[in-house]
Amino acid sequence: MNKPFNPFAMAQAQFDKAADFLELDEPTRELLRNPLREYQFSIPVRMDDGKVKVFRGFRVQHNDARGPGKGGIRFHPHETIDTVRALSMWMTWKCSVVDIPLGGSKGGVICDPHNLSMREQEGICRGWVRQLSRDIGPLIDVPAPDIMTAGHHMLWMLDEFETIHRGHFPGLITGKPVGMGGSLGRTEATGYGVIYTVREALKAMNIDPKTTTASVQGFGNVAQYAIRLYQELGGKVICVSCWDQNDQVSYSFRKKSGIDIDALLQITDRFGGIDKAKAQGLGYEVLAGDAWIEQEVDILIPAAMENQVTVENVNKIHSKVKMIAEGANGPTTPEADKVIAERNIFLIPDFLANAGGVTCSYFEQVQCNMNYYWEKGEVLQNLDNKMTSAFHAVHDLAKKRKVYMRDAAYFISVSRVAQACRDRGWV
Ligand code: GLU
Repeated sequence: MNKPFNPFAMAQAQFDKAADFLELDEPTRELLRNPLREYQFSIPVRMDDGKVKVFRGFRVQHNDARGPGKGGIRFHPHETIDTVRALSMWMTWKCSVVDIPLGGSKGGVICDPHNLSMREQEGICRGWVRQLSRDIGPLIDVPAPDIMTAGHHMLWMLDEFETIHRGHFPGLITGKPVGMGGSLGRTEATGYGVIYTVREALKAMNIDPKTTTASVQGFGNVAQYAIRLYQELGGKVICVSCWDQNDQVSYSFRKKSGIDIDALLQITDRFGGIDKAKAQGLGYEVLAGDAWIEQEVDILIPAAMENQVTVENVNKIHSKVKMIAEGANGPTTPEADKVIAERNIFLIPDFLANAGGVTCSYFEQVQCNMNYYWEKGEVLQNLDNKMTSAFHAVHDLAKKRKVYMRDAAYFISVSRVAQACRDRGWV
């Protein structure tokens, strides 16, 4: 029997390895192994049928030594406190690796937006903010969208906070709609950021993107924009996968001549679910869940959830695969990670590859503070610069010390955060 997957245990194991390498002293280890603060609470919401339903909400603030906590809020039926703890820790490393002045937090609510009306979702958003109204804020902890949350959720949350605190606080939350304090490019940022790092990695490997193929897990916000930019670079995506809400399993959609993103989007719901029958009509092969990982491609991009590349499927990765770019947070278990390292597959680790979203959130805060909004080209150029220099800092260290890319990313991130804790006199 496999042990049940615990993302927080995984995040701590990854941290311990970095702490050993950096020879961190005991108090610093103790401080960084666990979140600084955690909130768990109930959110009563009157549903459309008139009855009250109580949802469970979370916010975990892992570390704010480098700046206010930062991180998204997930709406997911299988959310757990340990998942939120792990994600908050990964946010600390993510903000650190791209060197933005923010710490790490994460939030969540156990709920399934597939079965909730907009009004009910608004109730959850407002209730979440009411429970945390003194513990989040532009200078304390700044939420953002994540799985199954988007700009309209952020705006309801902002409105609730501004009503409670009486004033305008656009820096409370990021991922707001454009025109309501949001930044151009924020929607694209995470997916584009993944591909900026893929582009740099291919350059370092002397491979022309036009000669490459990729297979992508997921078809949500991150995957969609990653596919777009990768195709613009000349790459060919032959397979994508998505969760099927009716069947409660995943399917992969393959077209060896290359997927047509616009045609697929026409038959995709707002949660990234692709209509199987219509896809077949468009000439896609519909394959069982894990098929995305078995494809004969150069690049794999897991861009869905945590715990997806595991001991069960890691050996299905085709011998042709040269690179894995982790668009999701925590997609690879430590056991699977070992196999990837041993096989010498070039890895762009999650908190580096997917740091584009939070980097653009930081730009959004900067624009809110100035009350002056940049053109899209300026946002994306700044994003590209940040992602490119973070990639090279990690890659240079990996080359110099002959270590795995994930380890190099951890060494850089953890040492910056540990230094901030020391500078503040905490340890
Ligand atoms: N939820 C995104 C992430 O996991 C973005 C967080 C943010 O913008 O604060 O990186």
